[in-house]
Amino acid sequence: MTPPLAHPAPASAASAADPTERIRAALFHRIGADGVYARTGLYEEVLQRLTAFVTRQRDPRAEVLRFPPVMSRAQLEKSGYLKSFPNLLGCVCALHGTESEIRAAADRHETGGDWTSSLAPSDLVLSPAACYPLYPIVAGRGRLPRDGGLYDVAADCFRREPSRALDRLQSFRMREFVRIGTPEAIQAFREEWMGRAQQLAAELALPCQLDVANDPFFGRVGQMMAVSQRQQALKFELLIPYFEGAKPTACMSFNYHRDHFGVTWGIESEDGAVAHTSCVAFGMDRLAVALFCVHGIDLARWPASAGRALGL
Ligand code: ATP
Ligand code: ZN
Ligand code: MG
Repeated sequence: MTPPLAHPAPASAASAADPTERIRAALFHRIGADGVYARTGLYEEVLQRLTAFVTRQRDPRAEVLRFPPVMSRAQLEKSGYLKSFPNLLGCVCALHGTESEIRAAADRHETGGDWTSSLAPSDLVLSPAACYPLYPIVAGRGRLPRDGGLYDVAADCFRREPSRALDRLQSFRMREFVRIGTPEAIQAFREEWMGRAQQLAAELALPCQLDVANDPFFGRVGQMMAVSQRQQALKFELLIPYFEGAKPTACMSFNYHRDHFGVTWGIESEDGAVAHTSCVAFGMDRLAVALFCVHGIDLARWPASAGRALGL
């Protein structure tokens, strides 16, 4: 039985119980939609320092590519994204047509009507992950060199999963190290990074645990894809609890695509065999929020090793 409360609970009791609320109030401003925030200077400073920290971990042989927040719709369609995550995709739509058609559509808004019914899809989608545009670029260059390829890519990503939770944004930054080559090279790359990621978390003084995972494939067929992905251990995640007792948040993922992108785009190893691919993804916003949740908002009080890693 619950005893009656001696005092009425304060109106903010629910949010005060969630430690991430304090972080949200200190570092973000709402801008009219869930999972999309204006970020403060303090938050961006930590994100940039974290970005520099990740850059220092990069293999000097890696090729650096930075992608815009939008990518070719045709390329994403060809990648098979609609089979796996149609619910998460955002497509860029625009008003097409003659001046009078566009004017008529826009004017409907002024008279309380719906201008959006005239929108039509463009040739762009919002990038749902940073590595998709890389594979056609690599394929277009002909066969890979003997050692395969190693890349450092990044993009602002969009996923249609609106939420009030600070670790589930609609717009977030993703950094990836991608390896393309033989299955053996790929396995070695992923193994190495699963070890290193835990060391990096230790340097940042973040508690973590590595676990096998699955992508959030859509629908009932998707559930079967998720089971098979787990059975084959194709995806691992670095999980970090934001506060004591919290369900841990996936802040990095280690993905082995086998020959999916190699077959799709015709990427060949030096000997003509279909190349395999793997990516190690850093969820930059999830990592930055983890730092603030675990260490607080006063950077001067962060643990010494985190301070050293981030050059504070
Ligand atoms: P989750 O199941 O938690 O949504 P995911 O499996 O969809 O994660 P990946 O596709 O592996 O995530 O994306 C790579 C990384 O990008 C994740 O490990 C995470 O750190 C980050 N990320 C993914 N979705 C979001 C999101 N909605 N908000 C913030 N970061 C995200
Ligand atoms: Zn990737
Ligand atoms: Mg997700």
